[in-house]
Amino acid sequence: MRSPSLDTRCVHAGRDDLARLGVHAPPIDLSSTYPLHDLAEGTADLDALASGARDPLHGSVYARLHNPTVARLERAVAELEGGEAAVAFASGMAAITAILLSLTARGRHVVAVRPVYGGTDHLLASGLLALEVSWSRADQVRAALRPDTALVFIETPANPTCALVDIADVVRQAGDVPVVVDSTFATPVLQRPLALGAAASLHSATKFLGGHGDTVGGIIATSEALARPLRQVRIVTGALLHPLAAFMLHRGLPTLSLRVLAAQERARELALRLSGHPAVAAVHYPGLPGGDPQSLLGRQMNGPGSLLAFEVAGGYEQAQQVMRAVRLITPAVSLGSTDSLIQHPAGLTHRLVPERERAALGISPGMLRLSVGVEGVEDLWRDLDRALAVPATGAWSTADSADPEFVTAEMLGAG
Ligand SMILES: *Cc1c(COP(=O)(O)O)cnc(C)c1O
Repeated sequence: MRSPSLDTRCVHAGRDDLARLGVHAPPIDLSSTYPLHDLAEGTADLDALASGARDPLHGSVYARLHNPTVARLERAVAELEGGEAAVAFASGMAAITAILLSLTARGRHVVAVRPVYGGTDHLLASGLLALEVSWSRADQVRAALRPDTALVFIETPANPTCALVDIADVVRQAGDVPVVVDSTFATPVLQRPLALGAAASLHSATKFLGGHGDTVGGIIATSEALARPLRQVRIVTGALLHPLAAFMLHRGLPTLSLRVLAAQERARELALRLSGHPAVAAVHYPGLPGGDPQSLLGRQMNGPGSLLAFEVAGGYEQAQQVMRAVRLITPAVSLGSTDSLIQHPAGLTHRLVPERERAALGISPGMLRLSVGVEGVEDLWRDLDRALAVPATGAWSTADSADPEFVTAEMLGAG
């Protein structure tokens, strides 16, 4: 049988047991504990789950060990990523912490390529997990490896600059050292790192997988062999995805492909228009000419996605002014929601990255990161264009921002 398209998988993945259960939507199992009528069976289930098994033989025993609603989401994401298994966590950071803790068999040295999400950067650089980290350029990973290197950590597209890392090349350089890819910006719609040789593909499910800005979670697609220690870490740390959150994230998947592609079309158009805007000094987006110097679009990614970064000519003052002046776009951290969000990496998400590093990565004081949603593209452009026209002195702001009628008429009215 021909394998179903990704669109079809997004709609049906992880729902294979529903017909048998006689339901149409995934049930939400909120049990904290489960009846154990047979002691020997309970012992066997505990043994299996404590050793990292995906499913118990008889029952879930206790919510920290296993939950059927979470397991359904895991089956769905494993299928979308082309992995044997997926393991869900309370947040993206819980997932990253778990994989760092679970892969230390070879040692406690990690090779990581900047830029990465600010929280990841801080976790690696702070020494909180007692790991030794070598920051490396993507093309110099091989030279950074040591006998005690536990894993190589990369993020592509990278937060916040949207720079792409060649996954297959890093995998080649890493040899038998596992490569972990934070694929949050791409989603399985645009990129499947496991097929390129990565050991694990990781997501802040808070972003595109949930897709509506209302759920926090993290998930890692990987082999069954690496999933087992991840489940063990989850059991002992208790960094659980709540079943309600798992239901919400699973509910986001049927529209994942539609949302990602629709947002990408809008992002392409906005990136083009921004790059011609007199108040914009630079736009960073893989879909623009020169934005993908390694030609990874088509080879590694199906499309450039819906995140872009741009630098305003007026620097920090103007960037601050844009965040104040937008009306339709929400000034907020996070990304991957149906609504568009704009934020200032140097002042917010990446403020803990040492300033020298920020400068080297191009995270300038005038940089804004835009997560494009699925609103009408002309409405988004009008909002951006208007916000960019506001002088950096802030002279404009008080009168107009005090008048919500003005905003409604301007933003959502004719044309
Ligand atoms: C948001 C984000 C994270 C952290 O995820 P949380 O769900 O906020 O813990 C990790 N990586 C990337 C690329 C992110 O955007």
